[in-house]
Amino acid sequence: MRTEKNGLGNIESTFSSFGYKNKFKIPLYKPLLNGNELRYVSQCITTNWVSSQGSFVEKFEKNFSKYVGTKYASSTCNGTTALYLSLLALGIGKGDEVIVPDLTFVSTATSVIHAGAKPVFADIDEKTLNIDPQDIRKKITKKTKAIIPVHLYGRPAQMKEIIELAQEYDLKVIEDSAESHGAKIGNKKAGSFADLGIFSFYGNKIMTTGEGGMVVSNNEELIAKVNLLKNHGMKPNNKYWHEVVGYNYRMTNIQAALGLAQLEKIEEKISLKRKIANNYKKLFSETNLTLPSEDKGTKNVYWLYWVMLKNKNALELIKKLAFSGIETRTFFYPLSSMPIFGKQKKQVNSHKVFQKGLCLPSFPSITYEEQQEVASKIIGLINQS
Ligand SMILES: *Cc1c(COP(=O)(O)O)cnc(C)c1O
Repeated sequence: MRTEKNGLGNIESTFSSFGYKNKFKIPLYKPLLNGNELRYVSQCITTNWVSSQGSFVEKFEKNFSKYVGTKYASSTCNGTTALYLSLLALGIGKGDEVIVPDLTFVSTATSVIHAGAKPVFADIDEKTLNIDPQDIRKKITKKTKAIIPVHLYGRPAQMKEIIELAQEYDLKVIEDSAESHGAKIGNKKAGSFADLGIFSFYGNKIMTTGEGGMVVSNNEELIAKVNLLKNHGMKPNNKYWHEVVGYNYRMTNIQAALGLAQLEKIEEKISLKRKIANNYKKLFSETNLTLPSEDKGTKNVYWLYWVMLKNKNALELIKKLAFSGIETRTFFYPLSSMPIFGKQKKQVNSHKVFQKGLCLPSFPSITYEEQQEVASKIIGLINQS
C-alpha cells in the first residue's frame, strides 16, 4: 500500500489497497461488446490484415468523423497520442503555455509537457466539474497559445464561452472529448467545436478499441500534419521519404475493426448510460448528495456517474464500499496537487470536490438491481456516519 502526503491528507491508493485486478462483485466499468466486434476482428485474421494497413482503419475514420460531424478524422494508437499530435500540429512547443483544467485525467496535461510547453491549471466549476471560463481568462498570459477544455465524465464543457475567449485572445482550442463520445451542445457533438477534437477508445471509455484514439477536425491542413507525424513523417506519395522526424502512433486494423463495430451501436450505449444516470438520480433523490446534472439544450452522456458528499469523507466511503465488493473511485487528483507538475498554485474548487466526490459503477450493462445495491449501500453508510 502506498501512502502519500500531498496537501490532500493521507491518500491511500484504493487500487493498490484492494488489488488492481481484484474481482469486484460490481465493477466500476467493463466494455459492452455486443455487436459485430467478433465478426470484424475475425475478418482481420482470415484476410491477414492485422497492421494499420487494413481497410477497417479508413472505414472507421470515415464513419467516426461522420458521427462527430467533422470533415476529417485521423485514428491513433491511443487518446494521449491524439492529444500530443494535436499540439504538435498546432505548432505548440517550447516557451508556450497551454491552459488545462485542474480536474482531468493526467494526459491532458502531460501531453503538453511532452510537446515542450507548459500546462497552466485553471480551476473548475464546482457544479459541472468542468473548466471555468472565468478562471481561464485569469490564467491567460502573453505566452498562452491554447486551451484544452475537457468534457469531464461526459458532461459538455462551456464551449461557446471558451471559443469566444479563444477568439478574443487569438488562442487555439483542442477539445479533449475522451470521456464524451456523443455528448452534445445544441445539435453539435463534442469534438466538433474547436480547431481539433480528440477521443480515447480505452477499454473503459464509452466506446472502445481496447487501446485507441482519434483526432477530428474540419481543418484539412491540421489533419494532414497529424497524419504525417503519426506515420514516421513519411510523405504520403513518396514511400520512405521522411519530411519530418515523426512517430509511429497508428491504429491497427484490429483496433479499427473493434471501433467500427462499437460505433454501429454507439446510440444504444449512450441511451443505456443515460438510463443508468436517471436510475441513480431517482435512487438518490431522498438524500442530501450532490448529483450530476444537465444544462438545458445539452446532452450529458454520463461516462461515469458520480455523487458528492456534504462532508469530506469520500475516501472512507470508497474503502467501505470496496469491502462490500462495490468498486468506486475518487475523482481525478487535482493536477496541481501532483509533484510531477512542480510547484503549482492550489486550485480551490478542484481540491474541494476531490475530497467529497466519488464515481460509481457506470458500465452500460449494469442491471437495475445492481444499481439498487450500490445506492442502498451508499445510503446506509452515509446515514451511519
Ligand atoms: C482517457 C483519457 C485520455 C487519454 O486516453 P488514452 O486513450 O487512455 O491515452 C485523455 N484525456 C481524458 C480526459 C481521458 O479521460
